[in-house]
Amino acid sequence: MGGNGKRKSLHVRQGDTVEIVAGNARGARGRVLRTMPDDNKVVVEGINMVWKHLQRTRQNPRGGRMQVEAPIDASNVMLICANRQCEKNDRPVRTRNEVSPEGTKRRVCVKCGVPVPRVE
Ligand SMILES: [Zn+2]
Repeated sequence: MGGNGKRKSLHVRQGDTVEIVAGNARGARGRVLRTMPDDNKVVVEGINMVWKHLQRTRQNPRGGRMQVEAPIDASNVMLICANRQCEKNDRPVRTRNEVSPEGTKRRVCVKCGVPVPRVE
């Protein structure tokens, strides 16, 4: 892997609401909790839950287990267009990056060109 310091990025960011477009959870929606650009994976709230076993510790002598989200492939999630005029409104859409007149980068729906709202 190249060590040139160039940061990889995914088409989704932490805080985005995405729809799952492939796999078991297809059609479900959730908020992106974490992105893992190096692995091309994302963690989406409530999606791909797995049991995690907790180690016994002094604080937790009985151990136990809890459900946590496991990462899924970033290519399995898509952003949703919020533009009511868009033919893809409220459906998963492909996005592209563009630079706004203010000089900031933003992601726009490829169908209607309207920026996808960024929720922090
Ligand atoms: Zn759109």
